[in-house]
Amino acid sequence: MAMKECIAATLLPLVLAACQDSATTIDRPTPCTEDWFAYVDEIVVTGDGAGHGPDLGSDEWRSTVEFKLGIRDVPEVPSRSSAAWCDFIDQRVAPPELFTSLQAAAEAPPRLVLQITVDQLRGDLPQRYLAEMGPGGFRYLLENGVVYENAHHAHATTETIVGHATLATGAHPSEHGLVGNVWFDRSSGKLTYNIEDARYPLIDSDAAVDQSTEIDPTQAIASTDGRSPAALMTSTFSDMLAMHHAGQSKVFGVSVKDRGAVSMAGHAGKAFWFSKATGDFVTSRFYYDEYPQWVKSFNASKHAQRYADSSWELSLEPASYRFGDKDDQAWETDFPGYGRVFPHPYGAGDGRFFTTLLTLSPAGDELTLDFAKELIANENIGADAVTDYLSVSFSSTDYVGHIFGPSSLEAEDNLLRLDRTLAGLLAYVDERVGLENTLIVLAADHGGPEAPPQYNEYGFEAGYVDTDSWDKQAGIANLKNRFKIGEELILQFAPPYIYLNNELIRSERLDQAVVEEAVAEEVMKFSGVSLAISSTALMEGRVPDTALTRSVLNSHNHERSGDVFVVFEPHWFINDFDGLTVTSTHGSPWRYDTFVPIIFAGAGVKPARVYREVHTVDVASTLAAFIGTNLPSGARGQVLPEVVHCPGKGAWRNVLYDSTTIH
Ligand SMILES: [Zn+2]
Repeated sequence: MAMKECIAATLLPLVLAACQDSATTIDRPTPCTEDWFAYVDEIVVTGDGAGHGPDLGSDEWRSTVEFKLGIRDVPEVPSRSSAAWCDFIDQRVAPPELFTSLQAAAEAPPRLVLQITVDQLRGDLPQRYLAEMGPGGFRYLLENGVVYENAHHAHATTETIVGHATLATGAHPSEHGLVGNVWFDRSSGKLTYNIEDARYPLIDSDAAVDQSTEIDPTQAIASTDGRSPAALMTSTFSDMLAMHHAGQSKVFGVSVKDRGAVSMAGHAGKAFWFSKATGDFVTSRFYYDEYPQWVKSFNASKHAQRYADSSWELSLEPASYRFGDKDDQAWETDFPGYGRVFPHPYGAGDGRFFTTLLTLSPAGDELTLDFAKELIANENIGADAVTDYLSVSFSSTDYVGHIFGPSSLEAEDNLLRLDRTLAGLLAYVDERVGLENTLIVLAADHGGPEAPPQYNEYGFEAGYVDTDSWDKQAGIANLKNRFKIGEELILQFAPPYIYLNNELIRSERLDQAVVEEAVAEEVMKFSGVSLAISSTALMEGRVPDTALTRSVLNSHNHERSGDVFVVFEPHWFINDFDGLTVTSTHGSPWRYDTFVPIIFAGAGVKPARVYREVHTVDVASTLAAFIGTNLPSGARGQVLPEVVHCPGKGAWRNVLYDSTTIH
């Protein structure tokens, strides 16, 4: 059987059965009666939804019905005034069982879109540990959702803000503009943190990034504590939802990381994130002039302090873990006071790195859940018929992955704890809103590689790229000789981009493309480099059209991207960030970094496993189609048919589905 027939044959009965299972039998009205006119009008909808339209049964009404069914002026249609016309139409409107499900669904668009993003969750990881997980979390999603088994980011810069912004907007970074956690801003001549915005300081000034303890190297680059979504160049699904409902939708984003919250809340929503300086959930003046009372109360109860003088301990007996006998792996980062083996102590509540250590453990996600629950209760999320949006981005998996690697006892226990946190979130949403009224989508901003020494154990030549050891002098000397320039040609290496001194290139009347390609040639001589691509050559279509170069092109934004894109060899990456040496780092176009889960569940979505390759840009397009909003301005993804294509779905939009077109 051909692949396409196979998919259609397995999907069709599944989808039809799924969509009709809640139907109750109703009597189909006799054609040409008042009840029948009303029945047809429910399905075909001749009016404008506000009580204006032709009188039921009138000639004008019959003409409109013909138009809506696409049969006006078709010769086979009997005369409008005849009884035969009613019988003819009766055969062409939805069958009664479909009508019943349409009617049931028409009253129930989702009350909530819950978008969950797990930071650094490679696509294979939830199922790797499924046997150890309890009910209600990943197990609920994997067993009840549409699970995409081959989902990828289609861009090459697989970093946190890039992935979040792509999931939020459905755009590639070339269009949404968030090309990396940091980029070199040519106008200011400085490295820029993706969501920094001096115009919108934090509401409390003492919540600012503490440069003396900040271990997130990208955060430390920001030259202001102000934050806003201004750098996000296209709109998000959450923006479209807010505009669709004329501002009545409640739209929120929550995360430990500011960039995990701000990106998803879009321009129209509100964002809250965790301040390592205060242990509170904070926001900026872009969103509020003053905290809502419930946020003040939440912060006043000092939730983070419950971890003071305690430790991250294993949740199960060591023997029940895959990595139970591998707690002490030599390549794990030995963070001072935290150590490489369980238990990992958080230290005193006023300790210098206390809040940082909470983020390097499941505690960060648990605090995020606490805050999300308060938000749901106090902002009445999902309480009425207008669809709300809540994004919860869980950051601990990323920090734990960086410090211990994704194949470590710490990462394993963290995922089991995340699973319980997820179960807590879903149970709470079920209680307040109902999962049948909540469209859930879970994905990740990026995957991640194994620690290179782990690859070595399996026979790979993997390692850390030490750019300090590159013989840059020789390379630069070559370039200076060739182009006869004495000044600095390279302004900045902000991996993966090299930014050149384009003003110098112009003033020396050099050819930008020639210089870029010469730099790329020199960089490709360094060990650990797989490929260096000139941006001009890329834009002019002078590089081979491969999956890899297409992903680099998807990342390329003319304003913010650099002039040469450096791809390291697979399993090789930089791990030294200004003094902080980590175990593993994502950010490459290789499949371990692009591979993420995408799972849709709730709101009548029925279980399916899909093995076709899909992309993270598809998520926003699918959400928009499911709810019926405008598309975000840069959305380039496909609508995922397994999620939306169910007769009755979208009936609140008065859409008639032809159930024979599922494929
Ligand atoms: Zn990361």
